[in-house]
Amino acid sequence: MRIILLGPPGSGKGTQAQLLVQRYGIVQLSTGEMLRAAVAAGTPVGLKAKEIMASGSLVPDEVVVGIISDRIDQPDARNGFILDGFPRTVPQAEALDELLKAKRLKLDAVIELRVNESALLHRVETRVAQMRERGEEVRLDDTPEVLTKRLANYRSQTEPLIHYYSERRKLSTIDGMMAIDEVTRAIDRQLQALGAVEPQEAGKGKTRSAAKTAPVKKARAAKKSAKKPAKAAKKAAKPAKSAKKASKKAVKGPRNAAKKSVKKTVKKAAKKTAKKAVKKGAKKVAKKVTKKRAKR
Ligand code: ADP
Repeated sequence: MRIILLGPPGSGKGTQAQLLVQRYGIVQLSTGEMLRAAVAAGTPVGLKAKEIMASGSLVPDEVVVGIISDRIDQPDARNGFILDGFPRTVPQAEALDELLKAKRLKLDAVIELRVNESALLHRVETRVAQMRERGEEVRLDDTPEVLTKRLANYRSQTEPLIHYYSERRKLSTIDGMMAIDEVTRAIDRQLQALGAVEPQEAGKGKTRSAAKTAPVKKARAAKKSAKKPAKAAKKAAKPAKSAKKASKKAVKGPRNAAKKSVKKTVKKAAKKTAKKAVKKGAKKVAKKVTKKRAKR
C-alpha cells in the first residue's frame, strides 16, 4: 500500500502516519524527519537545508525528490509506504508521478487531513510543550512566527495539490478535527473502501498487496536487482540523448516547458544518485585493490 498524507503543519500527519505504520507494517517516509536527520548529521544536504528550514521556507524540489527516490528503493519500503510531507509542491507531485511510473509502482490514495486553521497554532504550541516535558530538543521552526510562514507556504504551494490529486481521482478528505483514534478509524474505512486493504485484515497489520503478492513481488524484485547493472549503465548513457530531445521540445510551448522542468528535476535527482553509485563502486574497487596489494 502506498499513500500520501496531505495537510498543513499541525494537522496530525505524523501522528496518523505512525499509527498506520504499526497497523499495516509499512514505512513512514517523512521528508521533514529525513532533512532534520541530515541537518543533525551535518551532511551536504543538511548544510544546504538548515537555514531554509529554520526560516520556514521549502527546500529545493530536486533535493527532496532525490531523497525520496533513494528511500523508495530501500528494501524496507517494498511492502509499501506513507509519504508524510512529500510532495509539497506541484512540481514535486509531477516528479513523484514520474518516479513511480519508472519504478512501476502504483499510488493507492492521497489522504487529506482537513483542519481549522485556528486550531493549528494551539496544536503546535501543545507539541512544543510536550517535547520540552520529555526533554526533547524543540524544532527551530516551531515558533509562532515561523509557523505563520509555514502556513502561508502551505496555502500557496501545497494546497494546489488537493486539486491535482482530486482531478486524478486519488483524493480522500478526512476531518482532522476529530479525536486521534476517530481520525485513524476514518482513514481505515477509507482505505478499505478504496480496496487498498482487505476488510477482514484491517487492523491486523496486512495490506492487500503485502498479503497477496509478497512472493510474486519478491521474485520480481530479485529479477530487477539482477538486471540493475545493465540498467544503471543505460541510465548513465541517457542524459545526452534526452538533452537533445528536451531542446527540441522547449520550442513547443509552456505545457512542454512544464513537462521538461519535471523531467529535469527527476533527471537531476537521478544523476545525483547515479554519481553516488559510481562513487560507491569506485570506493569498493579501491578497497579491493588495496587489499590485494596488502596480500602481495
Ligand atoms: P510540517 O510540520 O511543517 O509539516 P515537516 O517536518 O514536514 O513540517 O517539514 C519541516 C521543514 O522541512 C519544512 O518547513 C521545509 O523547510 C522542509 N521540508 C520538508 N519536506 C519538504 C518538501 N517535500 N519540500 C521542501 N521542503 C520540505
